[in-house]
Amino acid sequence: MERDGQKYLGKYEPIISKKLFDEVQEMLVKKKHIKRQVIPFAFRGLLKCAKCGCQLTATLKKGRLVYYYCTNGKNICEEHKAYLKEEDLSKELSGVFNTLLFDEKIVDLVYRQKLKENQEASVYIDEAVAGLNARLKVLAERKRVLLDGYLDKIVMEADYRAKNKDIDNEVVVISKDLEELEIKKQSHDISTLERIKNCFLQPKQMKKDYLLSKPNEQRNTLATLLWNAEIDNKKIANLSFKQPYDALSKIENKSDFSSMRRGRDSNPRRVFTLTSFRD
Ligand SMILES: [Zn+2]
Repeated sequence: MERDGQKYLGKYEPIISKKLFDEVQEMLVKKKHIKRQVIPFAFRGLLKCAKCGCQLTATLKKGRLVYYYCTNGKNICEEHKAYLKEEDLSKELSGVFNTLLFDEKIVDLVYRQKLKENQEASVYIDEAVAGLNARLKVLAERKRVLLDGYLDKIVMEADYRAKNKDIDNEVVVISKDLEELEIKKQSHDISTLERIKNCFLQPKQMKKDYLLSKPNEQRNTLATLLWNAEIDNKKIANLSFKQPYDALSKIENKSDFSSMRRGRDSNPRRVFTLTSFRD
């Protein structure tokens, strides 16, 4: 058995099949292709032209400057001549947060008021639960007495059956009430209230973070808030918010306590977080 280097290498030389060769080539081509797509048009897909409703697209100029413009897909729009620099667009889009900013003091005030209301409600719920449970005990005792009376032949069978049925019916009603109270108790939970509070305060922090981040991260932030933004003459013309931000954006005068309550109350079914804030 020969063990010279040449033969050793020859034995272990990998066999490259044509198929593998093709696969590697394909991978390289694909990678190159993907790389080419990663030119950062951060805000593309998020913007619409307010004039014609077409998507805004982007182009790279001088190899580094990104400009956005209307695709003019319907061929009816003059906006495609207005090129919007990414830097300016990023600044303009920071205005998205403005309709979502609440005065922290007021949020805290409402929060503490709700907390107080919830605590009062909890006391009421606990009392109601205790009352109903006491009633259940009374009814159980009555059932027993009634049965004894029937077995001792003091109570007639017809009376026994009728009275026993009444008691059973009342027990069913009470059990339903207890279930409802349990659900109510959960909705008055402090963690629910905390979540709602954070929802009101979050956009302020989002804006701070937005102003410090790069377009790609800014895009992610905007995408959590918005379905899209319509741009008209390089300015935000219309915003379509996702929930619950849509509801937050519609509350007028966010530094005024009474209007904040009105905003919620006038449209109570608008959004889950706000409905949970009610009652
Ligand atoms: Zn257009």
